[in-house]
Order: sequence, then structure tokens, then C-alpha cells
Amino acid sequence: MPDLSNPKYTIEIIKKYEFAFQKKFGQNFLIDAHVVDKIIRSAMLTKEDCVLEIGPGIGTMTQALAKAAGKVVAVEIDKNLIPILEETLQGYSNISVVNEDILKVDIKELAKIYNEGKPIKVVANLPYYITTPIIMGLFESKVPLESITVMVQKEVADRMQVGPGTKDYGALSLAVQYYAKPEIVANVPPNCFIPRPKVGSAVIRLTKHVKCPVQVAEEGLMFQIIRAAFNQRRKTLINAVGNAADIKVSKEEMAQALTMEGLPITIRGEALTLGQFALLTNHVVKQKE
Ligand code: SAM
Repeated sequence: MPDLSNPKYTIEIIKKYEFAFQKKFGQNFLIDAHVVDKIIRSAMLTKEDCVLEIGPGIGTMTQALAKAAGKVVAVEIDKNLIPILEETLQGYSNISVVNEDILKVDIKELAKIYNEGKPIKVVANLPYYITTPIIMGLFESKVPLESITVMVQKEVADRMQVGPGTKDYGALSLAVQYYAKPEIVANVPPNCFIPRPKVGSAVIRLTKHVKCPVQVAEEGLMFQIIRAAFNQRRKTLINAVGNAADIKVSKEEMAQALTMEGLPITIRGEALTLGQFALLTNHVVKQKE
């Protein structure tokens, strides 16, 4: 089977199967061999690794993953791509294609079946419309994971990587950095895809922390506080948390936590680091004991 990252073959396959791109599935297929190679190298794969690929498309990256890893499980929602994948991936004995929605499939169960429950690596050119639910789902449902190396919208990659004091800093930055170390490894222009996306793209590697960088008494409460802080990011933290219906933390409790941390009571959440959100949460929990 020819190398699909050559655009000529991608076009041939698409014509042969009369494949119609579905915008609703975020279908932008890679047609640049250098980018495929960069993703594979950034994922640092060995023959010991089991890779979960989300959205194999016509199998361009899947072929390269199968050569670099021990096992590849590729989850694709679009049933029209399955016969194409049967052709493009024939001859590879270490690939399993699963025709499912990644947001509905039990990924922990896939890791159990294909990797004896040991940590997997996720590698994908993600469908951009569900980037955040996919990444947060992987972390929050405690899928055994080593790393996530994914193509995402450039702006979203920036949001995952930045710290306080920048406009991109928000709940996604804090959630990602709680679970993993983010590194943008490449910027990718629209002409590397068919059809061309309207936005720039970037490859980001998220290396799961072996040990969380902060110690927090109630993880769920910390993320409620973070979400409230950024839902109303121009408000002070005290007001943003005090106004949030789903959090049982009063303005007084929040004020006391800030004072104990030596922080001004007028501070906004956007100025706080992950470590400070954890310490503030711990003070609130202590007050409630
Ligand atoms: N990996 C291919 C490539 O790089 O050329 C395709 C990448 S394309 C950006 C995203 C892929 O994800 C498409 O094949 C699309 O059908 C698939 N997809 C979209 N939503 C999905 C979902 N909920 N579950 C699984 N796959 C999905």
C-alpha cells in the first residue's frame, strides 16, 4: 500500500470510494509526510507501546503508527471510512479499527483488552470540534495514560500551555497542567491538510505527571472554583465564587482563604497559579472541617 501522506494517493483513494468529507466530523486529512513524521517522533514510540489513535480518517497516520508502535487501536466514528481503512491498512497485523464515537467508547476497557490495562499513548490529528471533551475525558476518567500527542487548533494548544498573566490562560490551561506537562512541538499551516482548515494548527505533547505537581484536599472543589473564576474572569475571585450557584463556598470563606495565603482580597482568578488555587482550596476545606 503506498504512503498515503503523499497527496496524490489521498486524492486517488477519496475518488475511488467517492468519499464525501463530513464537516460535522471535523474531517481534515493530513497530506504532508514531514508533519506525520514529526508527530510520530514527538510521541517517542517504541515497539513496547500500545497507541490509541482517535479518528484515523483514511489511515495516513495509522500506517506510520503501526510501523513505530507495537499495537495500534484506531477509533473512527464515520462508517464510510471503514471500507477505506480495510484497504489502506491491509497487511498490517498490529492494527485494530473500532467503528465508534470516542466520546462514548469505554477507553479504559480498550486499554484492558489491548494492553492488559497498562498505560497507553494517545496519538491523533484530533477532530477540532471536540478537542476539549476528548482531552479532559481522557484525564478525568483516569484512563491509564503515558502521554497524549495531538494535532489541535493552534489557539487551543496555546491555551493549554500558558500560565497566569496572559489572555489565553484559563480553566483549560489549569486542568491540562494539573494532569500533564504540555509542550508545543510544531506549528502546522492549513496547506498540510485536505480540505484546508480555516485555522492554524499545532502539535502538542502532554506528558502525564507521574506525581501531581500540587497537593489538593478536594480536587473536584478546586476545579469548581477554577471554573467559576474563569466564567466571570473580570470579577474578583471572591465575587466569581460567591455568585456561582453550584459551589458551597461563601464570599467570607473565600476571603479568609485569600488572607491566609497573603493574597489581596481583590485578586482575580486569572492572576493565580495552579499551586495557589490548590492552596486556597485547602484553606477552604480546612475551614469547613
Ligand atoms: N487521522 C486522519 C488524518 O490525520 O488524516 C484524520 C484526522 S481528521 C482531523 C479527524 C478524524 O476524526 C476524522 O476521520 C473524523 O471522522 C474522526 N472523528 C470525528 N469525530 C469523531 C468521534 N466522535 N469519534 C471518533 N472519531 C471521530
